[in-house]
Amino acid sequence: MAKVLDGAAIAAAIKQEVAEEVRALAAQGIRPGLAAVLVGHVPASEIYVRSKVQTCAELGLFSDLITPPDTVTTEEMLDLVRSLNDRDDIDGILIQLPLPKQVDTKFLLDSVLPAKDVDGFHPVNAGKLQAGRPALAPCTPAGIIEILKRSNLPISGQHAVVVGRSDIVGKPVAMLLLHENATVTICHSKTRDLGEVTREADILVAAIGRPGFVTPEMVKPGATIIDVGINRITTLEEFDRFFAGDAKRAATFAKRGSTIVGDVHPKAFELAGAYTPVPGGVGPLTIAMLMANTVRAAKMRRGL
Ligand code: NDP
Repeated sequence: MAKVLDGAAIAAAIKQEVAEEVRALAAQGIRPGLAAVLVGHVPASEIYVRSKVQTCAELGLFSDLITPPDTVTTEEMLDLVRSLNDRDDIDGILIQLPLPKQVDTKFLLDSVLPAKDVDGFHPVNAGKLQAGRPALAPCTPAGIIEILKRSNLPISGQHAVVVGRSDIVGKPVAMLLLHENATVTICHSKTRDLGEVTREADILVAAIGRPGFVTPEMVKPGATIIDVGINRITTLEEFDRFFAGDAKRAATFAKRGSTIVGDVHPKAFELAGAYTPVPGGVGPLTIAMLMANTVRAAKMRRGL
């Protein structure tokens, strides 16, 4: 039977450690602070940001939620970021994506002070990550490494295949796995014979953004599967393709009219040695690592 990697439990343990660090810093008169910038009214973004701000409160971090209107300009956003870069009570700056079309996202993200870039998206942090220097690593990839390590799954010497090469997930997780001495292959939409490559994986990371894309034929029996994908499905046809016979899911689907499926077909998990479920696998780690990064940024900025 495949082992289910309980991301929620691992995230809870990390958050408890972060809360302890926050208490220790409080004794020194330091309170790590996160600025969360939420532009306009994108429902998914509102849910994510609300949960980030709430987690700050639970763990004792200061947070400041800033909500510019969706008519905001690049120049106004730059002014906002500059003011957050200068504020001493802010250690981490989070700009929730996506931003409205008129805002130059890349230019804006590059204006965040690398020392406050708790998402780890700034080219300076990406470069440090590649060079193996201390840096703020992107939260989801860092969370994946925590899942593997805290579940005592070997990384060193393993063949890790990462499907997806985004700057947010694919590339940084590949780099972190390499630093942990895995032999890493990165795949993408132009990879030939993808299934042949993924079947070689001892650790298979799927960060594609396509529901149930990784099928059982693409998996080596006993592999560790990390499913990063979050895809909402709303039709009965899709539901039956992935979850036929799953009564618990059917009840959720009937109640909400939708459910979430990862980038890995649930049938493929049956072949795995261990896997992260969706939901409840990688997802919870992203917020936990954001909190950890904010505390880390607070300490690094003060030379602690
Ligand atoms: P992107 O869309 O930025 O990247 C997707 C990657 O998948 C690209 O590199 C693309 O290749 C590759 N890809 C697309 N189609 C194929 C294909 N047919 N065969 C092989 N590779 C393919 O997505 P993200 O990296 O931002 O996110 C990936 C998934 O992870 C999404 O479902 C997202 O919702 C989820 N996510 C989850 C998080 C969490 O907290 N759990 C956090 C962040 C993301 P190419 O470069 O060639 O186009």
